[in-house]
Amino acid sequence: MSASLSATLQRRFVWSTPLRTRFRDLTSRDGLLLRGDAGWGELSPFWEYDDAESATWLRAAREAADLGFPAPVRDRVPVNVTVPAVDAERAREIVLASGGCTTAKVKVGQRLADGSVEPVEAEVERVQAVREVLDTLHGPSVGRIRVDVNGTWDVDEARRRIPRLDAAAGGLEYVEQPCRTVDELAAVRRSVDVPVAADESVRRAEDPLRVVRAEAADVVVLKVQPLGGVRACLDLAEQVGLPVVVSSALESSVGLAAGVALAAALPELPHACGLATSQLLTRDVTDDPLRPVDGALPVRRVAPDAGALAAVAAPPDLEQRWLERHDRLAAVLDRARA
Ligand SMILES: [Mg+2]
Repeated sequence: MSASLSATLQRRFVWSTPLRTRFRDLTSRDGLLLRGDAGWGELSPFWEYDDAESATWLRAAREAADLGFPAPVRDRVPVNVTVPAVDAERAREIVLASGGCTTAKVKVGQRLADGSVEPVEAEVERVQAVREVLDTLHGPSVGRIRVDVNGTWDVDEARRRIPRLDAAAGGLEYVEQPCRTVDELAAVRRSVDVPVAADESVRRAEDPLRVVRAEAADVVVLKVQPLGGVRACLDLAEQVGLPVVVSSALESSVGLAAGVALAAALPELPHACGLATSQLLTRDVTDDPLRPVDGALPVRRVAPDAGALAAVAAPPDLEQRWLERHDRLAAVLDRARA
């Protein structure tokens, strides 16, 4: 192996780990770490994303590796615990083990194996269980609950379910992406009292500002990788002019650190962020992962360490797929620059 090739390989590392609980349709997560002069960045677009969309994720990885992050204005970032579509008992355990998070994001709108949507009764039970634990841990009405639908409901379903979940939560902080389209979000927002947050309508949209023009959201969720980096997100946040919640794309702690950097640099941060997701991975790329303490993450860079990496090294076929994908995405960015 030539010296330059060996140096190149050390600048890229492919990791893979099972998830503790199925999340959306995933049972495992994998990605590529990229080392540059400023530190480590993460490239981990989901496999169903094509090269044009995934190239934006590479911009974010390169920003972290080559430039580093803008100066923070805070040194800790309050985070929510995420409760997947699990039964009430498991939901209780997850909130209890959350590291002091006073805000919970509960996944609802889950599609079942037969293609139907989970019944509202199961969602209500899960939300009630979360409210009980938050009240026990932090005192009545201190904790906040938001639900994330990932766009599964239609407008009628949203109108029916949101008031039930709002009652079960003792008041929802917001409902995230209740329906798929911006027009549907706007219709829901006009007909319920609960604030609406836009997630997929921002990060996978041709025009992320359409949500604002359509008055379809009260809050926007920004994710660093799909939006092309911390600086790109700061620019977008300024244009949007609405409260921002920074969330992860289920990254390793290296990728999460970029989300933390964004949350740390935003002028205002009124809501807890969705960055406490390292617990969803069975293993991380570092022995010192980003975990909440007293409901917040510390603002710091993360570098992988050799021992942790040895345990998450991807099998050769997956490693090869990532290295080739990285080369293709780099070519997309090069063409865009030309
Ligand atoms: Mg979401």
